Amino acid sequence: MRKEELKKLLSSFGEEDYFKSVDLHIHSNESDGKLSPNEIVNQAQKKGLKYISISDHNTIDAYLSTNVLREEMVIPAVEFDCFYKSVLVHILGYGIDIDNKELKTLYATNKKACKHNIFRLFALRDPKEVIEKINNAGGIAVLAHPCCYWTLDLDEFVASFVKMGIEGIEVFYPYNGMRSVVKFHSRNKVAYIADKYGLIMTGGTDSHGRKLL
Ligand SMILES: [Zn+2]
Ligand SMILES: [Zn+2]
Repeated sequence: MRKEELKKLLSSFGEEDYFKSVDLHIHSNESDGKLSPNEIVNQAQKKGLKYISISDHNTIDAYLSTNVLREEMVIPAVEFDCFYKSVLVHILGYGIDIDNKELKTLYATNKKACKHNIFRLFALRDPKEVIEKINNAGGIAVLAHPCCYWTLDLDEFVASFVKMGIEGIEVFYPYNGMRSVVKFHSRNKVAYIADKYGLIMTGGTDSHGRKLL
């Protein structure tokens, strides 16, 4: 799918689509999830989802090691760890060309850097470089779960990412269902900021377990 087409598609999804028919944030066992990429697709089909993304930490092995991209419902994605002003930030890349050479330099070369938080901390990247490379690979860069970032002024924080070329922000996220997730900002605040900067509002369950959330 071309970038403009994907942008239109993502912009067409609203709150009623997440998570009933669209889930753009799922982790497979190629990173720290429990399900294989094929099991994710099977469960998603049984659930009647129309679109999904497997967004593993720092790897696209889910797409390289399987044929899941043949399924029309699957939008390729990746979730990179970055560090900005002492805050650990996750940046999602949607619709990226999985053969892109520039992006290859950002993927983890060691499985530990996909599976374990502590090892992933050593693989922190510059968000500006990550966003540029996602854009150059034909992808859409999206700021993941911003409610979880420790920053006093989320508006200003997001504005910095807008300047770096981010085009979307993850608004629909099961903050309430995830007790382990620390929340610093409300979803309404994130939706307000998305609107203010004209960002595409995306969403997903951030499923890691044996069953899609
Ligand atoms: Zn994870
Ligand atoms: Zn994340």
